[in-house]
Amino acid sequence: MDSKPSEEHQYIGIAASPGIAHGAVYLLQEKKLSVPKYKIEKDRMPAEVARFENALIETRKQIQKIQEAIRESLGEDEARIFDAHLLVLEDNALIGESIREMESTQENVEAAVWTVGNRFIEALERIHDEYLRERASDIRDVLRRLLSNLTGQALSGIESPKEKHVLVAHDIAPSESACVDNAHLLGLVTDAGSKTSHTVIVARSMNIPAVVGLGDFTKKVNHKDIVLVDGFEGIVIVNPTKDTLYRYGKLKDERASIKERMLALSKGASQTQDGYQVKLMANIESAEEAKKAFEVGADGVGLFRTEFLFMNTKSLPTEDEQYLAYRTSVEAMGDLPVVIRTLDLGGDKVPASSEYDMVDEANPFLGYRAIRYCLGHTDVFILQLRAILRASAHGDVRIMYPMISSAFELKEANELLEQAKAELREEGVAFNENLQSGTMIEIPSAAIASDTLVKESSFFSIGTNDLIQYLMAVDRLNDRVAHLYEPTNPAVLRTLDMIVKAAKAGNIGVSVCGEMAGDPVMVPLLIGLGVDTLSMSPGVLPNVKFVVQNMKIGEARDLAKMALAETDGTKVLERLLEFYGSRMAALYEETV
Ligand code: PEP
Ligand code: MG
Repeated sequence: MDSKPSEEHQYIGIAASPGIAHGAVYLLQEKKLSVPKYKIEKDRMPAEVARFENALIETRKQIQKIQEAIRESLGEDEARIFDAHLLVLEDNALIGESIREMESTQENVEAAVWTVGNRFIEALERIHDEYLRERASDIRDVLRRLLSNLTGQALSGIESPKEKHVLVAHDIAPSESACVDNAHLLGLVTDAGSKTSHTVIVARSMNIPAVVGLGDFTKKVNHKDIVLVDGFEGIVIVNPTKDTLYRYGKLKDERASIKERMLALSKGASQTQDGYQVKLMANIESAEEAKKAFEVGADGVGLFRTEFLFMNTKSLPTEDEQYLAYRTSVEAMGDLPVVIRTLDLGGDKVPASSEYDMVDEANPFLGYRAIRYCLGHTDVFILQLRAILRASAHGDVRIMYPMISSAFELKEANELLEQAKAELREEGVAFNENLQSGTMIEIPSAAIASDTLVKESSFFSIGTNDLIQYLMAVDRLNDRVAHLYEPTNPAVLRTLDMIVKAAKAGNIGVSVCGEMAGDPVMVPLLIGLGVDTLSMSPGVLPNVKFVVQNMKIGEARDLAKMALAETDGTKVLERLLEFYGSRMAALYEETV
């Protein structure tokens, strides 16, 4: 313990949930569970299998109970996290292999399930993919619970301290985070984890500042040490000095007042100082999020990522289930448009259910994903198209296809859309005959030949996340090459310019729905290039609207001109930061 610091020390991790917290550490030690191992007589084997089945049932009941509690306290979205856990308990591979292991080793169930479960976890952790790593952590969580039910050992269980505290742990399993007493919880800090880990999603929805991915932080602090958690920047300071506390206290107040001010200002129209209109829309992943989009004053939903309806369910959602989700989002937006993207499965979005006929591929990001999968599974695709068309009877629904790489694919997709319309017509089911269908431009071939896609598209929506990944051959999830992912690179800017020009020549609208659209620094550049709609996560919309309202269209066009003429992407970024900085400085001066 002596090696742990008593002076101020700063640690940098991943900013996972915004906010600033200050308090005493509650160090959560994961309880080591012991795994008994002994031989089982052959004739006792059926009884051992029965013990396994009972433990599976008991574990299922416990998880469902936690899920119910979360549903009541936090809502449906957060409760759905536990669907993945319930699926682990139904995983035929895991259960079947554990029974085979018991039979071949003639050993007890605890030993067998522990060996097999850890084999699965190691295989998933070897793959450099954030999503799959999270699946490994789901299995670990369920495995510990199963073992505890089989052996009667208590899980660590967060005994909520009665004083306010900052929870520090190596990792927090989703089922443990569900037990966190948020009345006393000031902040959350973990060695492991990423921005998309389930615990972080729960922290964010509880508005608890969190920093994750700190390596071996648990070895650097003592129980009851005082820490300061900066969830904005991903910094944790142990034993902060008075100066630091003063600085952060001030910063906390300043950030809160800037945020409030921006929210108040964002009630106005999304137009520049000289009246140039830009549509600011929201990206959503569930029907419930549409309400949030409406509340922050979005001009519509620019991207509904429907694959999340398909990812954590046991089976393919039915036409009626999908229709209900689409209709709920459309009704939440009133008369505003809702752009529903057809299924973009594959790549990093692998569904939990085996019903989808998805196989392991050497290069999943270049593989059988999104529209490619849909065109090969027309039953799945038509079902979704029918559900979207039916929702179009209730508002301004638009459709958009992901990962189009050629005019041929687009034509095929539109033909299937016509087929779905013909079916509904014949059945006398209402839908909007003039529904717009747009194309996502996120593959270099589609960008370069975007003029060949205009005729079959009602609009273009540029998916910069994938477009930059494929243009620069930089895996968007790999932190080792993240420095090469450069939105202001001349190749990216010229490509964006080319797409916008093709859209304008074909007289169709062009939006950006990748993360670039929600980055207030990039916004003037995109508008200057001629993009007319930006779609982003609802949380950043007030900040983007503030930028739009505080610039002139001429300034944006000058920035775009400068950017297209510049050969050094870093210089472009510097100029954009300078522009954004000047707007923020003015707001800062007025507010603080
Ligand atoms: C994109 O690629 O920019 C995009 C919006 O789609 P996703 O992030 O869902 O791949
Ligand atoms: Mg994409």
